[in-house]
This record gives sequence, C-alpha cells and structure tokens, in this order.
Amino acid sequence: MLAERSTSTAQEHGSCAPRDCGQGMTKPLRIYSGRRFFLLTAAPIFCAAVAFCLGAYLFLQWSVRAVDAAAIARQEERVEMVMGRLRTEIARDQESVTAWDDAVSAVRDPAQEGWVDLNLGVWLHDYFSHDAAYILDARDQPVYASVDGRKIAPAHYDQIRDAAQPMLARLRERLHRDDHGGTDDHMLGPGVSDFGFDHGHPALISLKPIISYTGKIFQVPGTEYVHIAVRRLDGDFFPRLAALYRVDNLAYAPRRAVLPGFESLPIRTRAGATIGYVIWRPYRPGTEVFQSIAPAIGGILAALLAALGAGLRLWHGRNLSSRIQEERIHHLVHHDALTDLPNRAEFHHLLDQVLADPTGREGAVLYLDIDHLKAFNASRGHAAGDAVVRETGRRIAEVAAGRALACRLDGDEFGVIATGVDEAGTQALCEEILAAVRVPIAIANDPVFIGISIGVARFPEHGVESSELFRKADVALHQAKSDGRGHAAEFNAKLDTMLIERAEIENDLRIALRDFTGISVHYQPIFRASDRTLVAAEALARWQHPTRGWISPAQFIPIAESSNLIKRLGAHVLRVSCRAAAEWKIGCIAVNVSVIQLRDPAFVATVRAALDDEGLPPERLELEITESTWVEDGGQCAINLRELRELGVRIALDDFGTGFSTFGRLHEAETVDRIKIDQSFVMGSGQAKGDKAIVRAIVDLARTKGIATTAEGVETLESAEFLTRIGCDELQGFLFARPLPYDEATALIRDLGYETPMLAG
Ligand code: C2E
Ligand code: MG
Ligand code: MG
Repeated sequence: MLAERSTSTAQEHGSCAPRDCGQGMTKPLRIYSGRRFFLLTAAPIFCAAVAFCLGAYLFLQWSVRAVDAAAIARQEERVEMVMGRLRTEIARDQESVTAWDDAVSAVRDPAQEGWVDLNLGVWLHDYFSHDAAYILDARDQPVYASVDGRKIAPAHYDQIRDAAQPMLARLRERLHRDDHGGTDDHMLGPGVSDFGFDHGHPALISLKPIISYTGKIFQVPGTEYVHIAVRRLDGDFFPRLAALYRVDNLAYAPRRAVLPGFESLPIRTRAGATIGYVIWRPYRPGTEVFQSIAPAIGGILAALLAALGAGLRLWHGRNLSSRIQEERIHHLVHHDALTDLPNRAEFHHLLDQVLADPTGREGAVLYLDIDHLKAFNASRGHAAGDAVVRETGRRIAEVAAGRALACRLDGDEFGVIATGVDEAGTQALCEEILAAVRVPIAIANDPVFIGISIGVARFPEHGVESSELFRKADVALHQAKSDGRGHAAEFNAKLDTMLIERAEIENDLRIALRDFTGISVHYQPIFRASDRTLVAAEALARWQHPTRGWISPAQFIPIAESSNLIKRLGAHVLRVSCRAAAEWKIGCIAVNVSVIQLRDPAFVATVRAALDDEGLPPERLELEITESTWVEDGGQCAINLRELRELGVRIALDDFGTGFSTFGRLHEAETVDRIKIDQSFVMGSGQAKGDKAIVRAIVDLARTKGIATTAEGVETLESAEFLTRIGCDELQGFLFARPLPYDEATALIRDLGYETPMLAG
C-alpha cells in the first residue's frame, strides 16, 4: 500500500536515510547543536575545571590542617611545660618562707600565731597569689589555716585532707628517710606537689616541711611541721598564665573542650585521676593564613572559571559557525542549488545504499525528463526555465514524500528512488507525478503547460546494481519520449534489445560514414500549389545498412546527432545535393540541417565551400531548420543563420507547429524565408476542422509577414485542394511524388521538362 502523502517541501528533502526512503527520508539540514557541544565538550571541560578547583581547595585545606595540627602539638607541649614549671614555682615561692629559722620556732609557739599568719599565710597570698595555706604539726594535725589571705579555723584542713593526705604520706616518708633528693641551691628542702581539690576548687597543692635555713635548729627527721600551699586553678590562675605565656584564652574547664575551636589537655593527679582540663584557643597559623588569602584564591578561581566559561563560549561560537559552514558546504556539494534536491552524485550514492540493503526490499528507479525544456528556455529565457525546473522539482518531491526520494540529476532531468513499492505502487507514483506536473505553472502570471516523460526500472526485477538500473530507466525514458512524451514507460527486455541495436547502429553508421558506403540522398520533388509546377526538391538522407537493409532517417538521424556523426553526414548530404541541384536546373534544393551543425562555428564555411565547389548559386539553396534551432536566441545558431542569409541562402522552418512556443514568435520572424507546415496538421487538413483552422492561421500569418509556405505530407487530393485554396505556396507529399533516388529524380525532372532554373516563392 502506498504511504500517505506528505505536504513537506522540496527543501525538506535535503537528505535521505538510505535504507528506507519511504519513512526516514526527510532529514533536514543538520545544524551543529549547542546541546551536543555542551554535553560532549563544554560540560566535561567545565566539570574537570571545577574538580581541579575542588582538588586544589581540598589540598589547601589538608595543608592548613597539617600546619594547624603541628602548631597545636607545639602549643600542647608548651602548656604541659607551663604546668610542670608551675609545680616548681609554687614550691619555690613556698620555700621562701618554709626554709626559715624563725618560722621553725614560730609555728611551735602559740604566742606567735600572728607572726605565722602574716608570714606563712597573708604574705604568700599577697605576694605570690596563693589561695590558701595550711600548717600541720609533727603529728599531722592542722595548726593553722588561711584562705584568700584570711586566717580561718585549722579544722578547715578537712576540706583538703583527702587531696593532701597521699602527698603528706610521701613527704613524711622522705623526711623520715632524711631523703633530700631533688634539692639544690634553689630548692633547699624536699617537697611534694600534686593536683587535687581544696574547698571544692581544683587546685595545685604543694607541701613543704618548715626547716631551718641555717641548719642551727635541729629537728628530728619526720617531725618537721609541714606547710601546704594551695593555688586554685579555677580562679585567675590561668588567665594570669595566659598573659605571661601569651596563650589565648587559657582557662580551666571541668569538662573537655566545651567551646568550639578550643583545645584541651587533662589535668591529672599523680594517681591518674582527672580533675579537669586546661583549655585554650590554639593559634592556628594555617587557618589564619588561609583565611587571609581565601578571598584572593576564591576570586582567582572564580575568575579562572569565568574565563574558562567565556573561552568555551567563544570556542563553541567558532566551532558552531565552522560546523554550520561545513554543513552548508556538505549540503551544497550534495544538493542542487536550484531545487535544493539531492544532486546526481548524491542520487547514485543513495541508490547504491538502497540497493545494498540486505533485506532486499523491492522498489523502483524513476528517470524523469521535462519535455521540451530546451525550447522553452530558448523562447522564454533561462529565468523562466529555472522557475519551471524549480517548481517541477518541488512537485515531484512533494508527491514522492513519504515513499521515495527525489533528486535533480541535470538540467531538465530528475531521478526518484522509491523503496517498498511494488509494480502497482510504482505506476501509481508515476501517475501522481504526471498529474502534479501537468497542472499549469504560473510564470509571470502566464500559465505554462509542461509535460514530463518518465522511464522506470524496478528492483530487484530489472537488476540490483545501481548503474544497470539507471541505464535501464534511461532506456525506458527514451522509449517514453519516442512514444510521444508526457507519460511513463517501464523498462522491458525488448527495450534493452532496442538499445543494444541502437548502439550497433551507431557503430555501423560510424563505419558507413568513413567512405559513405550505403549512404545516399533521395530527393522529394516540391510543387507550386497554384499550377503544380515542380519548383524544388528536398534532399533526404538514406542509409542502406549492409545487413538490416534500409534504415529510416527518423531512426538514424537522432543517433547521428547524439554521436556527433551528424556533422559529417550533413556535410556529405549538402555537398551531394548541391551537386545534383547544380545539374538539374530546378529552382531550389532544400537540405535539412541539424541544430548540431548550426551550432558549429565552421558551418557557414562548410556551406560556402559546397556552393562554390559544386557551382550552385546560394539563392538556390534552402536550409531547413527545426523550430528549436530557430528560437535559440543569440549564440552560434543565430550568428550562422544571419551570415547564411547574408550569403543569399534561404532559411526554411521545418515541421512548423510541432514545437510549443514559436507560433507567437512568428511575428518577429525576420530570419526565415519559408515555413514548412508539419505533416501532422497537413494530413488531417482535408477533414479535421481543428487542423484546417490551424493550417489556415499559419498560412495567413506567414503571408502577412511575407513568408512563403510549404505544406508537407500532402497525401490526398482533398488536402491539396484545400491548401491551394487557402493560399499555401508549395506542396510536398506522396500525392505528387515520394523521395526518389538521384537517377529517378533526374528522370522525373527531365520528364517534366524543366530545363531552366525556376526560383521558388
Ligand atoms: P522532414 O525534413 O520533415 O522530411 C520530410 C519527411 O516526410 C520525409 O521523411 C519524407 O519522406 C516524409 N514525407 C514526405 N511526404 C510525405 C507524405 O505525403 N506522407 C508521409 N507520411 N511522409 C511524407 P524521411 O525521409 O523519413 O525523413 C524524416 C526526417 O529525417 C526528415 O523530416 C528530417 O527531419 C530528417 N532528415 C532526413 N534527411 C536528413 C538530413 O540529411 N539531415 C538532417 N539533419 N535531417 C534529415
Ligand atoms: Mg525537412
Ligand atoms: Mg518536415
């Protein structure tokens, strides 16, 4: 079944999916898409750039952390060192009053209670900022206590007893042993210090025996009074240290790192119990540097990404324009500029691809040729001709849409590749194309009727190879044209035989023309209508083939034209005819001239040489040209025609009325002396009303222009009389005489008794 007809334009048929012209053929001009560029190029590059930036940031962060970690480790060491130094310092502060002869005796004397308070309590508080002081006697009973520089009841010792007891035991043990290890010039007596709680406050507690500085007061070892100095950690202790050692926000915290960004170190007793933490805000050099340079780095990275984005945009722009350019060039290379249809090269390429389809779907190749386009171009100009071609191409493509691909092969030739259509489908397609093309085309508000001939070859029936199918479609087209144009013909084996025959004939003609073997000229007499006097003869080429016998000029003349042999044949006929005419003394000899000969710049010289050599006056030679030759404006034909007329040679327009545009142009005819009314009108002119009217119009028109008329193909008396009656000047036809060989023509002329030349017209 045929696919539904689409209304797409020829423009849309820029390309074809080769496997299936029916469905996938509409492939518009491919424009390189931004999305494709974004997905395949821009996005990966941009992601890579972002990943690089992220990597750089992470590396920077890692470095920052590493630097910070190293700095914090140093600070921890420093804090540990400070804490260690504190233990020594409190002991040293304490020793300024405990290694003192006066103190030894004062603590044992209740009367000196005031002195003890002032020197062993208040002074340490005021001068060294000790928070509490206790004094224990030889039996470890508290005899003195002061907190915050104020003396309190010794029983308050209970508040520190738990913490002090282990230290006291260790100190007493050393004192009993008279162990003075760790003492020197700076540290005179043994001592013990540790962390613990006093009155609920975390504190650094230091125990020192009260001893004689001079050594003059003897005390039994182990019976020394013991002084306990307390430095609370949760007061101004750490803030003071912070100022001293330049550590930010150094403080005591009962729990670990309560504040974000703070570091902490546990404060442990010798027994391993944690009594709290030293916390501080560590100096983080990495973070600090990073924070100072982060805005700059951020700016640089943002600028880099922006520059990359802009670069990609620019690249994309350039890429896009060059891709579009490429696409355009590709399109131009593969498409015809006038119709925008795929061109000949593309047609063959696509046909190859269609035929390579392994599924072997059936289809057809159509070879189309606009009828008489050359003549139309010549009469209406090339712009009008182009408009006809463009519109015809558009219509063919429109009909083909959905089931076939239309291409423009050459000037007036189109090709169609149809897939998935059987014989009936192909016929239907041809009918639709013929009908679409038949609709008149408006050119400058003037309806122009054109026809098209179609040659069809189907695959796989007629072949599966592109050049073979195309050749067969060409053969069929030839047949369609020979059968009268305006219809479609399908290839068949008989046509192929004809084509082979044609090639053989061409070859044989070439051989025959070497020495004109079998080539002769026959002469058909032409009579004046008024008195039936023999006034002229038309020279008609004849060829007797060695095996095929007589071959009609209607068959071998087109072959001679297409193979360029016509020049040699024409020159021969001209020379032979001139020779005969010079002998016969009839008025005029008419010789047919092909357009191929007339386009030859040497043609006038050929004619002049024939006339001179054979001794025939130019006035007695009449050259018959076809309408299409006559309408070829400008160019070599027109130049040759003008020169021939200047020479005195007459020009006749042969087969008048069969072309499709010259009737109107007869008004401007100045280059013709005679028109020969085509036999298709003449034969019916005896009866058919329409033909009669046409013939009468031609004769009238010619007479008003002073142009002579000859009717060709006069076969009946009736038409001879009609033609005479309407004023046709001369008659030619089987009624009077058939074309005769030279001898017979000579005899006829002699018999008719015309001895003197009589000029026609
Ligand atoms: P044409 O020039 O129109 O020649 C007239 C044709 O009509 C001749 O056909 C002639 O035999 C035929 N004819 C004449 N009277 C009658 C008639 O009463 N009835 C019918 N049915 N036909 C008649 P022919 O000789 O077969 O030539 C055919 C065409 O071949 C010529 O048509 C001419 O166009 C071409 N031709 C012949 N010889 C030459 C030549 O030497 N050079 C060129 N270029 N063309 C030639
Ligand atoms: Mg003729
Ligand atoms: Mg003719």
